[in-house]
Amino acid sequence: MAESFYHLPDGGRKTPAVALAGNPNVGKSTVFNALTGLRQHTGNWAGKTVANASGQCTYQGKALTLVDIPGAYSLDAQSADEKAARDFICFGNPDAVIVVCDASVLERNLVLALQILEVTGRVVVCVNLMDEAAKKGIRIDAKKLSEELRVPVVETSARSGKGLSRLMETVDAVLKGPSAPHAVRQLPAVEEALSGLVPVLETVLKGRLPARFLALRMLAGEEEVLNQAVEYLGDGSLSCPQVKRALWKALHYLEEQGLFGQKLRDAISACTVLRAEEICCEAVRMPPSCGKRDRKLDRFFTGKWTALPVMLLLMALVFWITMAGANIPSQLLSELLLGLEPAMKAGLAALHAPAWLSGLLVDGMYHILAWVVSVMLPPMAIFFPLFTLLEDFGYLPRVAFNLDRCFQKAKACGRQCLTMLMGFGCNAVGVSGAKIIDSPRERLIAILTNVFVPCNGRFPTLLMLISVFFAGSQGSSLLSALMLAGVVGLGILMTFLISRLLSATILKGVPSSFTLELPPYRRPQVGKVIVRSILDRTLFVLGRAVMVAAPAGLVIWLMANVTVDGETLLALCAGFLDPFARSIGLDGVILMAFILGFPANEIVLPIILMAYTASGTLADVGSMAELGAQLSACGWTWVTALCVILFSLCHWPCSTTLLTIYKETKSVKWTALAFFIPTATGFILCFLAARIGGMFL
Ligand code: GDP
Repeated sequence: MAESFYHLPDGGRKTPAVALAGNPNVGKSTVFNALTGLRQHTGNWAGKTVANASGQCTYQGKALTLVDIPGAYSLDAQSADEKAARDFICFGNPDAVIVVCDASVLERNLVLALQILEVTGRVVVCVNLMDEAAKKGIRIDAKKLSEELRVPVVETSARSGKGLSRLMETVDAVLKGPSAPHAVRQLPAVEEALSGLVPVLETVLKGRLPARFLALRMLAGEEEVLNQAVEYLGDGSLSCPQVKRALWKALHYLEEQGLFGQKLRDAISACTVLRAEEICCEAVRMPPSCGKRDRKLDRFFTGKWTALPVMLLLMALVFWITMAGANIPSQLLSELLLGLEPAMKAGLAALHAPAWLSGLLVDGMYHILAWVVSVMLPPMAIFFPLFTLLEDFGYLPRVAFNLDRCFQKAKACGRQCLTMLMGFGCNAVGVSGAKIIDSPRERLIAILTNVFVPCNGRFPTLLMLISVFFAGSQGSSLLSALMLAGVVGLGILMTFLISRLLSATILKGVPSSFTLELPPYRRPQVGKVIVRSILDRTLFVLGRAVMVAAPAGLVIWLMANVTVDGETLLALCAGFLDPFARSIGLDGVILMAFILGFPANEIVLPIILMAYTASGTLADVGSMAELGAQLSACGWTWVTALCVILFSLCHWPCSTTLLTIYKETKSVKWTALAFFIPTATGFILCFLAARIGGMFL
């Protein structure tokens, strides 16, 4: 293969590029992070690395660019991830490739390794997860493996960093070594056909692409790779008469031998699979009990009768821990932050600031900021690590597996479940995560329905209303958690219903099949999970909320303080909205608060309280009981609370999510639909709840 260099985006320096390839979930990102010191998100599901991530590392003073490419099972690409991986390996000119393999399932992983070896010989096979394999009693003879593959093999446990320096040392040596690809022996008839075609290709390709690899693709009729190759070569060399003639001859010969179409394609891939099996027979020893523990756990987590109840209970448990744990820190934080207000006001007064400025800054901006931080930070700091622990343990892909049938029934993609789970943290994250869905139709369904799972910004509102109006004023946390799980369940149900509706109307199509690998269960790294989820997720979401809360606080304060004919702007707007809002079980103030909460859902409840108390500043809610009393005094019943809960679950996405939807779809039409679908659903649900609930009042 031609000598090449990867051009770094920054500064145009040239350093050798080393691709990190492998099946999904084998520890590529972990290796990448350990070597580059970057923080590519590692998660336990297939398809999370949807774009190539690159990072720098140095070995003995020499710089290298590591490129973490999406997980792939083979180069005969099926999904967008696999296509991206294949394109980088075949046409991205990596100077070497590290093929990361899972030591416990080496045979399956070697298929990709063997295919990559057909593209380039500058390969290091990194047998990762050696610690797990050792625990299962799996023994790997690395020397034998290396002899069979004819490339270096390095055993690693990337999580603890074991073997990584040897990996770098080996990569450095391989970069200087020969790049000639290694072929997997094909059936005699295919070899015969190749013997005519390969030399012709070699003369036209002149080392720009591996001839045998391309010849096999030509015989198998893989249009997409061939088109990519034509584009890469930038000339008509693949369609020149000699190549056409040689190809025709080879295909004609194979047809005579009864090998054509799918049969030929199957024969070609079967040889690679058989070779992988052969190699593993030589180099790997497995104990008979291997995988027993995982099978037992799977029977429990994905069993016919246990899957759903366990899932709901786990969800309720996560909510319960979040709520029970967040109460006291929330209160302390609120006392601490709000306790600073008098000092701030005194400070401003000392600076001779006018009263309106002090009101604007302290009662407006700072007050709402303090509210958002104290209400959001503690639950997020508990929820995100718990969620990440489940992810790290390997449970989340099982949830996707359990819900796959429901998504298939809704004619959507099972992977949508993963985007839905991301939405619990932040809908904008869920929307951009929809990249893992290959079919554009199914991706759109996932994007349009993501907002039906409540994000972290909406949890506090849901929680408080459930605690105050439905779980008794003492707020039995367990009961609240179960009710919250019910509300979330309703959100998931709405996701299915709307997905089904969309696929029956504007987004018609057949659901695509996809491979969802169930990774082995792993003991989560508690410390790392907590640190990472707090730094990467919690602070990210909080930062975003704070950024919108401060200006929103300013606008809200102005609306609550600027008066026209003796009425505040807030009251005037609320009055205008009131008749419509009442028809759906809300009132003008509540609807106004949802509108003003467009930048961030977490400020809806504080605005409602501020408008009711007409104090011009956010009301302090001492306790749940006080909150209940305040709301009841303003005419709230349990039906109002129910309607607010439903509307919070189903209404327009927040501004960040909507912007993300526009960025992802690049279409005003789909963005508008993403706005209207949940809003219309919310109106209908609230209307029904108000009518039906009203009968019981
Ligand atoms: P990728 O999908 O190939 O990028 O895999 P990740 O890097 O995201 O790793 C998947 C999971 O395997 C994560 O939970 C990692 O913490 C874990 N992991 C990675 N390397 C090792 C290892 O050497 N030993 C163990 N026990 N776990 C590992």
